[in-house]
Amino acid sequence: DGLTGLYNKKFFLDALVPAVASSVRHGTPLSLLMLDIDHFKRINDTFGHPAGDTVLREVSQVLTRIVRAEDVLARYGGEEFALLLRETDQERAEACAERCRGAVETQLFDPSSLRIRVTLSAGVASLPDRELLDVDALLGASDRELYEAKRLGRNRVCSRARSAALA
Ligand code: GH3
Ligand code: MG
Ligand code: MG
Repeated sequence: DGLTGLYNKKFFLDALVPAVASSVRHGTPLSLLMLDIDHFKRINDTFGHPAGDTVLREVSQVLTRIVRAEDVLARYGGEEFALLLRETDQERAEACAERCRGAVETQLFDPSSLRIRVTLSAGVASLPDRELLDVDALLGASDRELYEAKRLGRNRVCSRARSAALA
């Protein structure tokens, strides 16, 4: 990705498709995290688009420090990131999402020495899951959890397993 240096959406999906097929076939764990910066439009509106770009780069650096070399971290859309964790079950994926969320929350982002606070929300979906048998189902599930995290007030992690347990 040109702005952040992370993988782009195309690369991410090219990695996700065979990883999901393998996980479904062999029953090995795999997790997908969708992470979206909260109220990013406000950051642009308040500090300007170039400051917003700097925040995107700095958030990318924070996330890169947290994930392992074998994880695939991508800029999936404007201010949305996707993280593929192979061989990682839901519990460890939730912990990783929580580390990402906490690290961004505690960092002061500093475009032009402005000291901006940023938070992000995350949705987690993991395999094996009887109802998630292909990439679209997994993407849909993690996206629903991200939406739920937004709905519940942002700056939080929602996971499909936890939501299913409550249902
Ligand atoms: P929410 O908490 O619901 O996610 O609110 P939000 O404001 O983050 O979400 P919304 O989708 O309303 O706005 C996203 C904003 O991100 C709008 C768009 O201009 C901005 N954006 C997308 N890509 C870039 C980029 O590359 N640079 C900058 N500076 N802003 C971007
Ligand atoms: Mg957002
Ligand atoms: Mg978004």
